[in-house]
Amino acid sequence: MKEEILILPPEELKRQKGFAKKVRALINRPQSYHLVTYGCQMNVHDSENLAGMFEAMGMREKDKKEADVILFNTCAIRENAERKALGNIIWLNQLKKQRPELLVGVCGCMAQQEGMAQKMLKQYSFIDFAFGTGNLYQLPKIMYHTLTGGRCIEIDCPQSTLVEGMPIHRQGGHKAYVNIMYGCNNFCTYCVVPYVRGRERSRKADDIFRQAEGLLKEGVKEITLLGQNVNSYGLDRGEQDFAGLLSGLEKIGVPRIRFMTSHPKDLSHRLIEEFARNKALCPHMHLPVQSGSNAILQAMNRRYTVETYLEKARLLREARPDIGLTTDIIVAFPGETDKDFNDTLELVKIMRYDSAFTFIYSPRAGTAAEKLPGRIDKEVASERIQKLIDLQEKITQERLQSLVGSVQDVLVDGPSARGKALTGKSGRNISVNFAGDKTFVGTVQEIEITATASNTLRGKMKGR
Ligand code: SF4
Repeated sequence: MKEEILILPPEELKRQKGFAKKVRALINRPQSYHLVTYGCQMNVHDSENLAGMFEAMGMREKDKKEADVILFNTCAIRENAERKALGNIIWLNQLKKQRPELLVGVCGCMAQQEGMAQKMLKQYSFIDFAFGTGNLYQLPKIMYHTLTGGRCIEIDCPQSTLVEGMPIHRQGGHKAYVNIMYGCNNFCTYCVVPYVRGRERSRKADDIFRQAEGLLKEGVKEITLLGQNVNSYGLDRGEQDFAGLLSGLEKIGVPRIRFMTSHPKDLSHRLIEEFARNKALCPHMHLPVQSGSNAILQAMNRRYTVETYLEKARLLREARPDIGLTTDIIVAFPGETDKDFNDTLELVKIMRYDSAFTFIYSPRAGTAAEKLPGRIDKEVASERIQKLIDLQEKITQERLQSLVGSVQDVLVDGPSARGKALTGKSGRNISVNFAGDKTFVGTVQEIEITATASNTLRGKMKGR
């Protein structure tokens, strides 16, 4: 039976607007905020909503050292991410001693984990407020209560709710993120996401189209659709599927469309056909494989095999020969033998990804894998990941080299890191640097690729 998707009643957002107004009216209220964001694009996009709500409360963004409120939007996907966030949160204790009026908050996946927010507030007296992933829209209320009544925790919102029409303060200019669904039903054995983000809830296609039309009017040239598993978009509603959604976005004139993240088991033939047909779709797919061993994939509960993964990748490349594939790989999952790891290396050699995010398995509290026997020795894990990184770096270089002499459509983002050139992303999502002036920012330019650097391409504007 399908779980009912509840849309947050508009009156509740009005109530939050009311709290924002009340905060604005407070004497000696905070005037500025600073957001520290960890983790994936979903979190980056959530921070745009948080910024929108801070702005609605009359606050402006400032540097960490000067801001009146500092909010950490955390990630719980790996132990490292949590440790890094905690380290930076604890550092604020010093700042708070110098500026006792500073307010410190924690939200996101780490705060949503069972008992974590309570534990943090108990352990760190300088944290003033904490809230979970489902309570994001309540920031104005939380701020008002913190400012008028003291420390505040909100972690109890039902996670089957969809919130439409939250304020937003976008960072991207000509690029925008659009959430198309929330949560995940997959329960990969190593992952906390289903526990901290709830079950899958797809937004209505019409709401997404309306939002995209608004973004086009603002001059947005590229939309990245976000979800934990975009390939299963719409299955909970039984209306539009993901391929249909992409087709609809092309029809309303979105010039460049990207999306993430895709689960290989839900990558449908309709989506592969859409890649062959829909020219607004950028030729890039991030398709996390996680392991090249069927035994490990089964232990991870990924529900595809190496063979079905390779076949889908082959069909994708046949449908869209210019497509670049990237991936995530976990090494040293419990029980991973030398042979399992060598199978992963073999798969990487066959797949020839443009790039890969590689991780050593990190046990997460409350997940099924946490209880699995066969933990891998740290030294073995480090050796394995280094081998994998070396292999992928070599392949990345060869992939980049193969693009020298080609012409790439690059959406120009701004000055390059060293500021001497412009930088932008090719359709394959590879950074390209080239000489040009700022008037090209936000436009798509044809760039002839002339050379490679470690992870980027260099080029010149065609015909110049
Ligand atoms: S598909 Fe698996 S890895 Fe991805 S969010 Fe869902 S449970 Fe986590």
